[in-house]
Amino acid sequence: MTAEKPFSFKETLGKLPKEVIPRDYSIRIVPNIDKLTFNGTETVKVDVHKPVRRLVLNALELEIREASLDGKPLSKSAIKIEKERELLILALPSELAAGDHTLALSFSGKINQQGQGLFYMRYQEQGSPAAAEKKTMLGTQFEATDARRFFPCWDEPAFRARFQLSVVVPENWLAVSNMPIESEKKIAGGKEVCFAATPPMSSYLNVFVAGELDLIESRSGQTQIRVITTKGKAELGRYALEVTAQILQYYNDYFGVPYPLPKLDQIALPGGFGGAMENWGGITYYESALLFDPKNSSAKTKQVIYEVIAHETAHMWFGDLVTMAWWDNLWLNEGFASWMGSKCTAHFNPQWEVWLQRSVPRDPTRRAGIPKEAAMEGDARSTTHPIQQRIATETEANSAFDDITYKKGQSFLRMLESFLGEDVFRDGIHSYIAAHKYSNTTTADLWNALSEASKKPIGEIAAGWTEQPGFPVIRVEREGDGKVQLTQERFTVNFKSAPPLEWKIPLTYSVVDEAPATLLMTGKIETLQNIPADRELKLNVNGAGNYRVEYDEPSWKLLLEVLPKLGVEDRVNLLSDAWALVQAGRAPVSLYFGLVGKLPASAELAECEQIINVLDFINRLLVNSPERKDFQRCARSLLRPRFETLGWEPKERELRAAGNLRASLINALGDLNDPEIIAGCRERFEKYLANPASLAPDLRPSVLAVVGRYADEKTWSRLHELGLKTTSIEEKQNYYSALAESIESRLVKKTLPIALTDELPTSRAIFLVPAVARDSGHADIAWEFAKANMKTLLAKTDAAGANRYAASLFTFFSDTSRADELRSYAKANLPPASAPEVAKVLDEVQFRGEFKKRLAPQLNAWIDMKLTTNAHP
Ligand SMILES: [Zn+2]
Repeated sequence: MTAEKPFSFKETLGKLPKEVIPRDYSIRIVPNIDKLTFNGTETVKVDVHKPVRRLVLNALELEIREASLDGKPLSKSAIKIEKERELLILALPSELAAGDHTLALSFSGKINQQGQGLFYMRYQEQGSPAAAEKKTMLGTQFEATDARRFFPCWDEPAFRARFQLSVVVPENWLAVSNMPIESEKKIAGGKEVCFAATPPMSSYLNVFVAGELDLIESRSGQTQIRVITTKGKAELGRYALEVTAQILQYYNDYFGVPYPLPKLDQIALPGGFGGAMENWGGITYYESALLFDPKNSSAKTKQVIYEVIAHETAHMWFGDLVTMAWWDNLWLNEGFASWMGSKCTAHFNPQWEVWLQRSVPRDPTRRAGIPKEAAMEGDARSTTHPIQQRIATETEANSAFDDITYKKGQSFLRMLESFLGEDVFRDGIHSYIAAHKYSNTTTADLWNALSEASKKPIGEIAAGWTEQPGFPVIRVEREGDGKVQLTQERFTVNFKSAPPLEWKIPLTYSVVDEAPATLLMTGKIETLQNIPADRELKLNVNGAGNYRVEYDEPSWKLLLEVLPKLGVEDRVNLLSDAWALVQAGRAPVSLYFGLVGKLPASAELAECEQIINVLDFINRLLVNSPERKDFQRCARSLLRPRFETLGWEPKERELRAAGNLRASLINALGDLNDPEIIAGCRERFEKYLANPASLAPDLRPSVLAVVGRYADEKTWSRLHELGLKTTSIEEKQNYYSALAESIESRLVKKTLPIALTDELPTSRAIFLVPAVARDSGHADIAWEFAKANMKTLLAKTDAAGANRYAASLFTFFSDTSRADELRSYAKANLPPASAPEVAKVLDEVQFRGEFKKRLAPQLNAWIDMKLTTNAHP
C-alpha cells in the first residue's frame, strides 16, 4: 500500500488544468417553465497562475451563446464543447498573462424530468382533490458532477469559489438558495431575486429551489433555521425544525467551530430524488424524510427523519466547510456524516438503539440492514472494493455512493473511536476542522490530526481498513494453561481464491462479568493469557468492531450458557456473526438456530429484527421450493411467541421499541403466511377504511403490506384509490408498497404499469418494479415488464440510477440461467459503466443458487426436528 499524501491543490486528481482558478462567480438564471428550458449569464473572476492559451472548464447539455474575456468577445469558433469529456474549451486569441481576469458567458440549458441539474417536480397540492391540476416547482441536484448542467464552472471539488446567484421567478413563488436573499425587485414577467454570495465552497454544493412554498422558522444562536415545504405543509415541518435546533447546537459544540452561514434551510421536495442532499445552507430532502405528521406518521418515520437530518447537518462541517479533495475520498464526507449522524441520534434518543437497528435503505432495491452488517455483507464478496478507490471519470464518481463508502466508513470510524476513546477522538476532530476550514483534505489529513491527538500511528492502523478491500475473521482457540490463540484471516463469502490479507485490528474482548480490555492485533496470530478454561470469553465488545469472530466449540458452548447475562449488543453481534459463518460455509445452519433457541424469551427488538432478516432471506430463497411451506410453519413458531407477548394493541407504558417490534413481527408473520395475522390485518383494514384513526400510525405500513400481499381485485383497487387520493408522500408510499406486495400474478400485472405513470413522484415510480420483484415472489414477471419498457423507465432516473436499474431486478433470482440472461442482456444493452453493478448481481445470483443447494439438507433436518418437537406450529 502506498500511503496517501495530505491535500495539495496541485496534486489533486481531476481533468481540469490547475493554472486557472475561479474565485467569484456571479450567475443569473431565467427559467422558462412552459418550455422546460432556461437562459443564463455569468461572470467569473479568475486567477491565472501561469500564462495560458485556453480556458478549460466543465459544461454539460448547455449551449454556449457568447463568451468574452476582460470585456472582449471571443469568436464563435473559439468556443468548443467536448461533449464526451463534459468540457467547455475556450481558445484564446493570444496568450493570457498571469493575474486577475474576468470571463463572461451567456448560455442556455434544459430543465430535466429526473433529479439532475435543474429539474422540475409536479405534485398534488395539499388539500386539492386528486383530479386537480398538478403544481410545478423547481429544484436542483448537483452532486457529484451536475452543477455543470446549470452553469459552466470548474466543477471539481478542489476548485472552491464564491457563488452569487440571481434568478427570475414568478411573483408568487418563493426562491431559496444557499444564502439569504440580498435584494428582490419586480420585473416584467415576475421578480428577480438576488442571493448573497457564498463563502468559498465546491460547486456541487450550490442549490436553487423555487415554487409556491410555505415555511416555518426559528433561531438557534446566530443561525436562522427554516423548514420549507410546498403550500399547506409547513406545519408538518415542526418536528424537523425542533430537531434541527437541537442537532445544530450539538455540532457547534462537537466540532468546536460554529455553523458558519447565517441561515440553515431544510427543504422538503415532493420528488426529484429519494434521499437528501447536503447543499450548504439549503439542504434538500425527499419530503417523507423531513415532514412528520403526528396524526399519521409512524414512529419509524420519526426516527428516519431524525437520522437523516443529523446526517445531512453533519455535512455542513464534514463535506461543506471541509471538503474531500477528490471523489476517491468521498468516504471522508459520507462515512463521517453517517457516523456523526448516528452518534448524535443515539445521544439524544438512546431508546432507538441506533447502532443496532435496521436502517431504512435509500431506495427500495437495497435491503435494509444494520448499517455495519449491510456493509460487511458486500465487503465479504469478490465484487467489493477498498473504501478509498481510484476515481477517474464522472461515472465512477457517481458510482462511489455505495454501502462501502457510507457504512464501512462509518463502521471503521466507530471502531476507531471506541479504541481511542471519545475525548481523544474528538480532540483530533477539533484540530482537523480548525486547520482545514474553507479548504479541502485527503484521508491523510484526518489521520494526521487523530495521530497527533492520540499519539498513536493512526495512519498505519487505518491503511488496512481504507486502502484494501474486505475485513478479517478472528478464530478463537483454547489452548490450555489459560492460553487462547487468536488467528486472523480474510473473511469471504462466495469468493474462492480470495487474495489473503491482514489487518491491524483494534480488538476488544471481555471475560464475562469483567471489565473489557483492548488489544491492537498487529500480526496473524496473537495469544491471550490467563483466561481460565471455564470462563466465557467474548470478543468484539458490543459488536463495535468491523470484524467477525469464529469461536471453537468449548468457547461457543460457554457463551451459549451465559446469553441472558450478555447485553443486547453482544447477543445481536453473536447472531450476526453466526449467520455470516453459515453463509460463508464455515458453520452449519444448526449453529445459528441453536443460538436462536438459547436466547432469552424476552428477546429485544434488535435481536428479533436480526432473526426476522434471516428468516425473510430464507423465505425468499425458497420461492417455488417444495420445502417452503414447512419452513414457514417452523419460522412462524419462532416468532409467534414473541408476537403473543406483545399483542395487537399498543399497551400503556410499553417501551417505544415495542411499537416497532409489533410492526416488524406483523410484517414478518404475514410474509410467512400466518392465517391469524392475515385475518387480523384484514379486519383492521376494514375498520381503518371507515375510520383511519382506528389504526395506529406505527402499524399502518405493516397492516397495509399484509393486506396488499393477499389482496383480491377489490382490495387492490381500494388500496390504489387511497394511494391516488392522498397528498402525503409517506402515505402514498405505504399504499403503493402494499400494491407491490401482491402475490397474485394477475394483480402483479396491474401494479407494474403504474411505474410508467405519474401517480408516484418521478424518482420513486420506477422503483415500484424492483419492489414487485422482491416482494411479490414474481421477479420473472417484473423483469419481463421492465425489459419491455426499459426506455421509458430509465428516462425517469439519472445516470447512476440507470446503471443499477436493470441488474437490480435480477437480485432475487437464484438459478444460473438467470445469471446467463443478465450477462447477455448487459452485453447487448448496458453501458460499460454499469459493469460493477452487473458483477455484484451476478455474484449474488450465483451465491443464492449455491447457498440454496447447500442449505436444503440442513434446513430439512432443522424442519424435521422442529416439527417433531413442536406441538403447535
Ligand atoms: Zn451524506
